[in-house]
Amino acid sequence: MHPHVEKILLSEEQIKERVYQLGQEITKDYQDKDILVVGILKGAMIFLADLVRNIEVPTFFDFMAVSSYGAGTVSSGAVRILKDLDKSIEGKHVIIVEDIVDTGLTLQYLVENMKARGPASLKICTLLDKPSRRKVDVTVDYNGFSIPDEFVVGYGLDFNERYRNLPYIAVLKPEIYRG
Ligand code: 5GP
Ligand code: MG
Ligand code: MG
Repeated sequence: MHPHVEKILLSEEQIKERVYQLGQEITKDYQDKDILVVGILKGAMIFLADLVRNIEVPTFFDFMAVSSYGAGTVSSGAVRILKDLDKSIEGKHVIIVEDIVDTGLTLQYLVENMKARGPASLKICTLLDKPSRRKVDVTVDYNGFSIPDEFVVGYGLDFNERYRNLPYIAVLKPEIYRG
């Protein structure tokens, strides 16, 4: 275990099993369709990489980067596009792939933004959900795990850009968050 980690919330094995199940569900729901997964950088990148290898229908990728928390752990509510999609999503079956839905503000913005581009369908897949923190109503179609209100890192998620490469989802020691 990494020396900055207080506890592991979700192990590699738990994540692997759940990501497999999500891939199966998506495969079942999109029979005879092509999927365009839109990964939200950078947090969703590890999840997306594992998820798509468990999807058995033709799957295309695009990516978007938006600003969210900046350096801290509290939502600003302000969303800014740092990198937009490469191509039009008009007429495509889009699945937004997120690392975590917290207040829901980022996702609400993304959904509105993408709906305006005329996809054939639009669904949300997130690895983690913190339902107790929700400020706006967003519908999550595929959720890996609901977790308590704790700031987590690993498996793509960062604290000040660190810890994204941890293979599990963990909570850091309080002194690390205090800096
Ligand atoms: P929301 O707009 O739903 O409040 O926040 C969404 C974004 O905030 C996530 O995509 C993620 O980047 C960041 N975030 C929210 N909660 C956590 C957390 O517990 N850990 C980390 N590393 N990022 C989080
Ligand atoms: Mg995110
Ligand atoms: Mg972050």
